[in-house]
Amino acid sequence: MAFTPQRGVTPVPAAGVKTYDLEADVVVVGYGCAGASAALSASTAGSDVLLLERAGGGGGASAMAGGLIYLGGGTALQKACGFEDSPEEMYKFLVAATGPDPDETKIATYCEGSVEHFDWLVECGVPFKESFYDGLLAEPPGDDGLMYSGGEDAYPWNEIARPAPRAHVPAVEGKVLYEKAGGWQLMRSLTAAVANSPVRVETDIRVDRLITESDGTISGVVSRRYGETLHIRARSGVILAGGGFVFNDEMLGLHAPKLVGRLKVGTDGDDGQCIQMAQSLGAAVRHMDAAEVAYCSQSPMLVRSIVTNVQGQRYVNEDGYFGRVGQTTLFSQGGRSFLVFDEEVFESVPEDQRPGLQPTWVCATVAELEESMGVPDGALQSTVEVYNRFAEKGEDPLFHKRAQYLKPLCSPYAAIDFREAILGVFTIGGLRTDIDGRVLNLEGDAIPGLFAVGRSSSGIPNWGYLSGASLGDGTFFGRRAGEAVAKAG
Ligand SMILES: Cc1cc2nc3c(=O)[nH]c(=O)nc-3n(C[C@H](O)[C@H](O)[C@H](O)COP(=O)(O)OP(=O)(O)OC[C@H]3O[C@@H](n4cnc5c(N)ncnc54)[C@H](O)[C@@H]3O)c2cc1C
Repeated sequence: MAFTPQRGVTPVPAAGVKTYDLEADVVVVGYGCAGASAALSASTAGSDVLLLERAGGGGGASAMAGGLIYLGGGTALQKACGFEDSPEEMYKFLVAATGPDPDETKIATYCEGSVEHFDWLVECGVPFKESFYDGLLAEPPGDDGLMYSGGEDAYPWNEIARPAPRAHVPAVEGKVLYEKAGGWQLMRSLTAAVANSPVRVETDIRVDRLITESDGTISGVVSRRYGETLHIRARSGVILAGGGFVFNDEMLGLHAPKLVGRLKVGTDGDDGQCIQMAQSLGAAVRHMDAAEVAYCSQSPMLVRSIVTNVQGQRYVNEDGYFGRVGQTTLFSQGGRSFLVFDEEVFESVPEDQRPGLQPTWVCATVAELEESMGVPDGALQSTVEVYNRFAEKGEDPLFHKRAQYLKPLCSPYAAIDFREAILGVFTIGGLRTDIDGRVLNLEGDAIPGLFAVGRSSSGIPNWGYLSGASLGDGTFFGRRAGEAVAKAG
């Protein structure tokens, strides 16, 4: 199949541009968390900043997010909630959990600057309540400000680094779980900060191409608004902050075919245009096949059940991060799994913590269940027999699920058929950048005047993901890129 970028991405030579419709020192493309942070910091550093957004206002996927922001190393919020953490422990965890091939330099920078970055978010007006959420939902149902979000306290990470909760969650007045959550509040605060700054915002502008000088320097963008082509000059540089590419099926097919047909998590702005604009200039990319994959069940059910493959065998510890269970299911099991539990487990989880989940089969014996599921004769029986024998002693020698979630399964047994279940995905691969957001070409050299942040770039969420890593990395490296381009100008 021939690959056709949707709107054309070939750069436009500056020599051919007669007039510019708009002009600024720094042009930021995309008004999500990364673009807002980049614009604010470039403006604070003294640059004249123009922030361009294809939608009618700022927000992007950032505003839809649960709002978990992965920070640590001893933030004021961690301390207020009584948790000890250090940049070193955070680094050890992130290097292990975001691998393979973690970006160690970015992680080190991120861990060192994390405490200060939290303070910056607070200065921007992002509210955090000093309370810890001790539950298992993907985001706190109330306004608690801190929670675990990456399986830090589960195997194997609890043996690699001292666990600490690091998801910092903005408090939301009138919260509606999974709809009006911390991401909405984060963007509400950041857009208010932008409105109170000299940053100029232009909406309903879709950027399609970059403008290049004869020496290769990026000096502007070509965009469309209401059928009109606009040329926009960037005197110091362009920051691409246009999100990922989960809404571009052609790019998914090329780079991340396992994501095709899955539930897309994001906005239609996640069409990869920003990534392709830079690729057309020889920019390198990293881990384009990587993705956050949300498992089909919420953790309250997941941790108390066993997850098996279609052969009836366990393949992961169910009490780890639900995104890791999802990733493992998608990448090692073709996205097919069964959730196996018993009546006692089902009844022990409040209905609002297992929304929509109903057993596909309920049987008096594991043998009957196995037959209903179409699992090879004896396979699930052997899985449950081994699980139960050790669960009785509070042990899980195969996958090290923690004792608090281990309970022998007993009759009546049940399972949910997740073979065709929908796994929610968004892309985390993107442009290769340095710690200041400079876009690097295939030889590792910076493309002059071009920066990328947030999910247009590959960052802390590298291959392994943990909730909060995207908003954390987007705002953190957004700020750094804003400062760097302002300094370069
Ligand atoms: C339901 C949901 C829950 C999530 N929960 C969390 C969470 O709790 N924690 C976490 O860390 N992550 C979470 N994520 C992921 C996270 O929201 C995104 O990965 C992150 O917001 C990306 O930030 P960004 O600034 O790179 O992109 P975005 O916030 O998507 O912003 C990009 C903006 O650029 C605009 N744009 C794109 N192309 C162009 C163009 N060519 N011209 C002009 N404008 C353009 C888009 O319209 C968009 O407004 C969640 C995502 C979803 C959808």
